[in-house]
Amino acid sequence: MKIYLDNAATTPLDKKVFEAMTPYYLQHFGNASSHHTFGREVKATLDACRQTIAQLLNANADEIIFTSGGTEADNTAIQSAIYGAGVEHVITTKFEHHAVLHTLEQFEKKGKIRISYINHDTQGSLDLAHLESLLQQQPNSFVSVMHANNEIGNLNDIEAIGELCEKYNALFHTDTVQTMGHYAHDLQKLKVHYLAASAHKFHGPKGVGFLYCRKGTPLTQLLHGGGQEAKLRAGTENIAGIVGLTKALELAYADLHEHHTYIQNLKNQLIDGLLNNLSDVTFNGRSFEADKSLYTVLSVCLPDTGDDLLRCLDEQGIAVSGGSACSTGAASHVLQALKLRPGRNTVRFSFSRFNTAEEIEQVVNVLSALLQPIAA
Ligand code: PLP
Repeated sequence: MKIYLDNAATTPLDKKVFEAMTPYYLQHFGNASSHHTFGREVKATLDACRQTIAQLLNANADEIIFTSGGTEADNTAIQSAIYGAGVEHVITTKFEHHAVLHTLEQFEKKGKIRISYINHDTQGSLDLAHLESLLQQQPNSFVSVMHANNEIGNLNDIEAIGELCEKYNALFHTDTVQTMGHYAHDLQKLKVHYLAASAHKFHGPKGVGFLYCRKGTPLTQLLHGGGQEAKLRAGTENIAGIVGLTKALELAYADLHEHHTYIQNLKNQLIDGLLNNLSDVTFNGRSFEADKSLYTVLSVCLPDTGDDLLRCLDEQGIAVSGGSACSTGAASHVLQALKLRPGRNTVRFSFSRFNTAEEIEQVVNVLSALLQPIAA
């Protein structure tokens, strides 16, 4: 049996999403910018998708800009704040995805911005009093804080951060790539200016996502060319991908609470299985705490056996990862920021609604055979 527990890297496409997409490859393949019937019908679908996503998030349709995924959405938001709004000071965290951190570092190298990092505790929880003091010293900043971390699963209080940003007149960007489709987002209530999302993290296709940009917030084009996306993002729209993204989000939100409970139970089962069967198991960040971490991610520290544990698990048909798929091979900046005990094996298990209790049982059995079991 092959077991896929690397859903924070990417999720399998839902069959219903695939079925919704195929007509847009085979029959409705027109270019949304064409004026003939083929183009017009695709344009109508594009508009309907934008409307559906806006409704699901309680936003306006013209605040949704389709992109090639989370990376492009993050880059567009950052560039917009710097070139469009003229921001010179950015406040972020050591835990952001490289789509944010590397982009900011490029602007810093060019002398366009200064970056301040929000202090955090040993579990990676952010010090919001420190954020407030940074905002007090320098209002009109750009704040970029992800909703949940992709490696350790820590959830950040983006409601409170949004309030602080409003108080100090700062622009707020949040990367919701790991939470879109897994948590409800009400964009009338959340005080956010930019929000990034990606379909392949919630059983949609790869290579498509969106940026939410609040009405009236500066938006600077990243890609120049045609006049697509209201002249905000050039390039022929990936209509099949956008249909898939929309269908995936609809399916996610239709049964959000059931999925949450189901997946949290799998995570709890794995936590119990590890603690009851293995010695010297610890959890990274807030991964262990249900209300402070993503229910789809469990980051575990296991004893070092001298063998490559991830490879051993792969040989047994179990796909997990050590951290972010984008940085495989490199030391994780997230784990480094946590200053973890050296000589331990970090394994990120990440779950989806397609995993089962039998799979979790099998993972515990395999790990018990590979690692030192608790002495009887
Ligand atoms: N942000 C986070 C938190 C992610 O986990 C990822 C992907 O792993 C990205 C951004 C990049 O998204 P995409 O793969 O759609 O470019």
